[in-house]
Amino acid sequence: MNIYPDFYLDSVLNITPKFCEENKIKGLILDIDNTLIDIDKKMLEGAKDWHKSIVESGVKTIILSNSNKKEKVSKVAENLEIKDYITFARKPSKSGFIKAKERLRVKRKRNRICR
Ligand SMILES: [Mg+2]
Repeated sequence: MNIYPDFYLDSVLNITPKFCEENKIKGLILDIDNTLIDIDKKMLEGAKDWHKSIVESGVKTIILSNSNKKEKVSKVAENLEIKDYITFARKPSKSGFIKAKERLRVKRKRNRICR
């Protein structure tokens, strides 16, 4: 079974607490490259404040990265105060998403995918 997007957003920053509430999103499984880090490998401006607002609204977060560079992934997690991360995820394989969902400890009604 494949996973298909429900939403296409220009930036992860467009996933607001309001958006999560309206769409009953309790947890976010976050990518790093071209998501939290831009094409020049720089942290997205405003990402830290964005993450803080998401967590404060009660939405849980985890990074799911295909990167095998644990140091890189842990650094991004630390900078953004994201509590958990998974490296070498082998996306688009579903196994990493299942693992991330378990770690988030949110009850799943259905998956919603944002690209
Ligand atoms: Mg990416």
